Amino acid sequence: MLDRPIQIADGVFQLRVIGARVTVLVEDGEALLVDAGLPGSAPVILRGLRRLGVFPEDLTRVALTHYHPDHAGGLGQLVAGRDVAVAAHESEAEIIEGKEPMPTVLAEGPLGEMTAPVIARLMGRPVAVDDRLEDGDAIPFGTEVRVVHLPGHTRGSIGLLLPEKGTVIVGDALQYKLARRLSPPITLNEERFRLAMQSLEKLSGLEYETIAFSHFPPLRNEPREAVRRLVERAGG
Ligand SMILES: [Zn+2]
Ligand SMILES: [Zn+2]
Repeated sequence: MLDRPIQIADGVFQLRVIGARVTVLVEDGEALLVDAGLPGSAPVILRGLRRLGVFPEDLTRVALTHYHPDHAGGLGQLVAGRDVAVAAHESEAEIIEGKEPMPTVLAEGPLGEMTAPVIARLMGRPVAVDDRLEDGDAIPFGTEVRVVHLPGHTRGSIGLLLPEKGTVIVGDALQYKLARRLSPPITLNEERFRLAMQSLEKLSGLEYETIAFSHFPPLRNEPREAVRRLVERAGG
C-alpha cells in the first residue's frame, strides 16, 4: 500500500507520496512534517497521517528540506486554511514565498529558461515561510530537531538531525540508489558538486544510526561509515 507509513524510529515515520517520501515526527499528539511532495500530495499525506492517529489539526509544523517541487509543491494545498508553521532555510524562503523566481532546476541558460514555466507550474501556490532557518537552529518540537545546512543540491538544502531518535533526514543531499550504494546528490555544476561534498563531509561527522532520504528507502547499516567512504572516494 502506497499510503502505509514506514517506521524509521520511535515516533518517526515516512509516507510515500507522489514522486517522493515525506517524513513525519509524532510526539505528544503533535506532528511535524518534513516536505510535502508534488502538488496533489496533500490528500495522500492527510490519509497517511490519519493512519498514524494524527488528525489535520495535530499537524502544527512543516519543514522543507529545499524548495524543489517534489518537496514543496504540495505545501500550499496542505496548509491552506490551517494553522501550520512553515520552516525553510533562510536562503530559499523567498523562492517558496514566490517573491524570487525559482532557480532553474535542470540547467542554466536557454534550456533552463525553457523549462522554468513547467517547473513553476509544478511548484504549486506560494506559501509564507514563518521560520527562516540557519545551520544549527533547533525547530521547536517535542523531540530535538537540529538544522544542518547541507548546500550543494540547492543552496539552501538542509538536513534535520534527530539526536534522540538516532536519525538524520537528508532530503536530496544524498542518494541511495538501486544498487544500494550511496551517491552524491544531483548538482547543477562543478562548484555545486564541491559544495555538496563538503556538506557530506559535515554529515559524516554527526551522530546517527539511520539516514532517511526523500527518494530511497532508509539506510541503517553503518550509515556514517558509508558517508565517510563516499567522501573519501570522491576526494581520492
Ligand atoms: Zn531536489
Ligand atoms: Zn527530490
